[in-house]
Formats: sequence, C-alpha cells, structure tokens
Amino acid sequence: MANILNTLASGVINTALNKAVNPIGHNPMGSPMGAPMGVNPMGSPMGGAPQNAAPAPAGWDCSCGNRGNTGKFCAGCGKPQPALWDCSCGRKGNSGNFCADCGSPKPVLWDCPCGCKGNSSKFCAECGKPKPVLWDCSCGCKENSGKFCAECGKPKPEEA
Ligand SMILES: [Zn+2]
Ligand SMILES: [Zn+2]
Ligand SMILES: [Zn+2]
Ligand SMILES: [Zn+2]
Repeated sequence: MANILNTLASGVINTALNKAVNPIGHNPMGSPMGAPMGVNPMGSPMGGAPQNAAPAPAGWDCSCGNRGNTGKFCAGCGKPQPALWDCSCGRKGNSGNFCADCGSPKPVLWDCPCGCKGNSSKFCAECGKPKPVLWDCSCGCKENSGKFCAECGKPKPEEA
C-alpha cells in the first residue's frame, strides 16, 4: 500500500509540476515576445521614410517672368537655372544679377590658374593670387580673362 501511495503521490506531484511549469514557460517565450517584434520593425521605417526623403523643392524665378521653376532649366524659356550667390552685405541665395537687399551687382566668379574654381572675391581662395582683369577684344569678344582672346586668339592688349 505504501508503494502505491508513493507512486500515486509522486505521479500527482509530477503532473502538478508539469502543469505549473508549462504555462509559465510557454507564454512569456511565445506570444508576448513574438507579436511586438514582428510588427514594430515593419511599421516605423515604412511610415517615416517618405516624409524624410521628400523635402519640399525650392522653386526659382526666371528673369523671363516664369516663377517656381523646379528643374535645372526654366519651364517657360528654357534658360538654365542661375547659380545662387551670397552678397557681401549678408544676403544669401540671390539668383538675379543684383542683390535683392542692397542692389550691389552679382560678383563674377572666376577660375584661378592654380585650379581653384568659382572664386568670388578679388583674390583666389586657394593661392591668394589677384583676380585676372577682364578685357574686351577689338573683335567684339568681351570679358576675356586669359592672355589671349577666347574668340579670335589675339593677345591681350597692353595698357600704356
Ligand atoms: Zn525663363
Ligand atoms: Zn547685398
Ligand atoms: Zn589660385
Ligand atoms: Zn578677339
């Protein structure tokens, strides 16, 4: 009788332990962990990406009167978008030939023989050489910057 009772008792205890362990062990490992892991990574990148990747394009106004151009060329006349320039007065992003704030003329960008391109000041930003003086050729070609006319090849006239 004692053996049977022991066997029954141990069997009941084992069954009770199994019932107690299984639910505790199964639930935390299963559904609670699984569901959020699957949903969140799919949700956030899909929702946030389009808003960040598409900034509002800034349109530019052409001198022909066509406003809000978004491409590199004017939708009205086909002229290329003018390069924006910063005035010495502090006004930035001017697109016309004159500063929108103080009216000073747009600085002419020039390329230094040293290889530095797009200098806007009187001296090269790289080597400090002064900006070459532009000169007009007798053939009609204007604003030559080199020693020879870009149109006819005539040498720059020496000024007395
Ligand atoms: Zn235009
Ligand atoms: Zn200005
Ligand atoms: Zn230079
Ligand atoms: Zn010339």
